[in-house]
Amino acid sequence: MAMNIKRPNGTEDVLPKDVYKWHTIEKIARETAESFGFSEIRIPTFENTDLFLRSVGETTDVVQKEMYTVKAKETEFTLRPEGTAGTIRALLQNGLLNEALPQKVFYMLSCFRHERPQAGRLREFHQFGLEMAGSASPAADAEVISLASTLLSRLGLKNVELHINSIGCPSCRAKYHEALRAYFEPHLEELCDTCKERFVKNPMRLLDCKSPICKEMGKDAPVILDYLCDECKDHFEIFKKHLETFGIDYVIDPKIVRGLDYYTKTVFEFITNEIGAQGTVCAGGRYDGLIEQLGGQHIPALGFAMGIERILLLMEKLGCDYLTPKKCDIYFATMGDAALAKVMELVKGLREYGYCAEYDLMGRGVKAQMKYANKIGAAYTMVIGDNELNEGRARLKEMETGHEKELKLDDKFTANFENEYFNKVLDVMDAENSSMFAFTGEDK
Ligand code: ATP
Ligand code: MG
Repeated sequence: MAMNIKRPNGTEDVLPKDVYKWHTIEKIARETAESFGFSEIRIPTFENTDLFLRSVGETTDVVQKEMYTVKAKETEFTLRPEGTAGTIRALLQNGLLNEALPQKVFYMLSCFRHERPQAGRLREFHQFGLEMAGSASPAADAEVISLASTLLSRLGLKNVELHINSIGCPSCRAKYHEALRAYFEPHLEELCDTCKERFVKNPMRLLDCKSPICKEMGKDAPVILDYLCDECKDHFEIFKKHLETFGIDYVIDPKIVRGLDYYTKTVFEFITNEIGAQGTVCAGGRYDGLIEQLGGQHIPALGFAMGIERILLLMEKLGCDYLTPKKCDIYFATMGDAALAKVMELVKGLREYGYCAEYDLMGRGVKAQMKYANKIGAAYTMVIGDNELNEGRARLKEMETGHEKELKLDDKFTANFENEYFNKVLDVMDAENSSMFAFTGEDK
């Protein structure tokens, strides 16, 4: 019977031939986060639905339209649409917020949102994100942005612009909401249904609507920066100075209000024009009220999340470099059962040294085995048959150069192979050194 079950819309397979691109992002993200003193946290894929209702917020797209809520037996759960709620839940539940602050954690995880799939917008997507809990200082805002900006530049990403805004605290927002209601009131009938509800419950969300009509209508809406209280205004001013100290360029963008309810004060997005409409590759901000809202003490916090698929789209578009994928170091072509047994012994030793060693498992002839070795890009090959077994030696062939060298098939085999490999590295260094000297010579 033909297999015709396909993957669900809005999901993706990452094939072995492409996975090194993911490894590149994951490795550089992990190293960058660790160099800022963040540690990894891993949280469940699903949580109690209430967690998202209480944190992400009722008037957001995520809660209103996008959550995957499943009922298993009598209990209801929701697949995480983002990482912040679960991370803060985990920090609270495990008592980490009673330990030395700030707590600094990062995560790499899949998220689930029922959206209309398009380039850069999936139903299962992946985020690299982080949260810092404990600091109210604007230096923390700049620190977190510096981490994101460092990561983007280490990945080789250019043409990404940092947009910042402040959406104030609940006290300045109350005044702003009144101003927004006054502005939108005469056009209330023209707004989309979701925005009619937002008008009542959370008018700032109107500015985050993706419908072209609501967007157009919001063009000349009052901006929150004009309504900030003194404390929020100071915070924003000092934050901008810190960005300047780090040498990070930014534009102030009053249209950034962020889709999730829990933000306060600083909000930001890194945006590119290179990958079409879904150009926000990283988004985040401060959420000083969230921990309390979830039953903890009043502990200020902030964070961001990067969409890994969008980062990849941008890396492909810009032709960025990736880390070299691991390939076969040595492939053994064998003739006969005795040779196979010997090779099984040899690969065991090599693998313990960390080499990738492979041999024929298909029962192919030597010629076909060599063809396969070529196809998988083996750096070295070695043919072992009766002659080699009798003499206790075999020829190691470097595939790139055709250079051959005889090695003994004894207990020192692994060490001898290692030497051969090491010599090759030295050759490369020599070649690089000599061109470096040649260059200095010319310079004089
Ligand atoms: P958008 O406005 O694009 O819908 P959002 O405000 O819903 O984004 P956040 O909740 O802030 O997004 O998520 C952080 C990041 O995760 C986004 O900036 C984006 O890079 C990525 N992201 C969000 N939703 C998706 C999705 N459906 N598919 C792929 N990446 C996504
Ligand atoms: Mg969204």
